[in-house]
Amino acid sequence: MPEGDSVYRQCKMLREALEGAVIESSDFRVPALATSDVSGRTVVAVVPRGKHILIRLSAAPNTEEMKSGAEPLTLHSHLMMDGTWRVFDRAHNDDAGHLGEPRTSGADAGRSGADARGPGRATSSSGRGGLQRSRPGASPYRPRGQARRGGSVRSAAESRTRISADVSVGQGSHTIRAILRTKDVEAVGFDVKDVRLVPTRLEDQELVGYLGPDILGPDWGLEKALERLNAQPDRAIGTALMDQRNLAGIGNVYRVEVLFMTRTNPWARVDSLPEGRLREIVVLAHKLLHLNKDRSMRSTVGQAPQGRPLFWAYGRDGQPCRRCGVQLKRGEIDDALLTVDPAPSRTAVQHLRTIAWCPRCQVAG
Ligand SMILES: [Zn+2]
Repeated sequence: MPEGDSVYRQCKMLREALEGAVIESSDFRVPALATSDVSGRTVVAVVPRGKHILIRLSAAPNTEEMKSGAEPLTLHSHLMMDGTWRVFDRAHNDDAGHLGEPRTSGADAGRSGADARGPGRATSSSGRGGLQRSRPGASPYRPRGQARRGGSVRSAAESRTRISADVSVGQGSHTIRAILRTKDVEAVGFDVKDVRLVPTRLEDQELVGYLGPDILGPDWGLEKALERLNAQPDRAIGTALMDQRNLAGIGNVYRVEVLFMTRTNPWARVDSLPEGRLREIVVLAHKLLHLNKDRSMRSTVGQAPQGRPLFWAYGRDGQPCRRCGVQLKRGEIDDALLTVDPAPSRTAVQHLRTIAWCPRCQVAG
């Protein structure tokens, strides 16, 4: 599952591509929005909230539409397990109606490789560099900032940004849920979940108001997060950390890493933790997410030199603990009580998540 830092990078990419631009046409491929059209509106802001992506749109300029609610709208989406937004240059997509197979690349696979297959794969895939220009049967879509733009520094930066996308290899046009077209670009949401259009003034009420303090947000409040975690003393810390109502932005990678680094047993009750431990955990999570939010490759062990480990424990079950040498265990933690949304029926929630932990360093109590 994408962590807060992935969402942050996705929003950065969307912001650079869309903010200030007028939507020329839109295409929503979810039943509830089948007849919605946001063309004519300007993209006012792209904001991450926890793991939610909010694309704020201006009021509709068309007066005729005023009657049926032309107020500013927010397009909401959630990446869930494997959703991703990608930005394409429209200049190279003459046949806008033809939605072919989106091209995947080594660069694209980098971040998801880290999430899904462990750090080794991420290193090699991101090292492959640029995209192939085209191949038979490939998509008319052309990732933004590639060769035709002259390979500027900016292009390179954009390419790196795209590494952050949690792209699943093999995603096809049937996974497209939303398209926003401006004069220059086409932003396409593949496999994004819970795509909704909500009046911007109702964002809190309908979308993200239930979220705890956002680790990467301007409203971050350590004390508030601790207060919320302490309010449910009998929960396992591993589950409580993932509950976005307590604090927003932590996913499985950071959960595993932070618990390992603070020598905390994932199943320990919140009220059983030694004095000061909870604060230590949350402060560390905050620090790690901030360290990684602008990095092309996620790491919890400092800058990741090539061939060096990216994580202490995540994805390393069965391998020796980097601290004590004991074999790391694989465990499952039940996130059944977690919802990424106040109305769970709207989104699929995976309950059992795999974690790695050290039976010597992370003993209970
Ligand atoms: Zn150990």
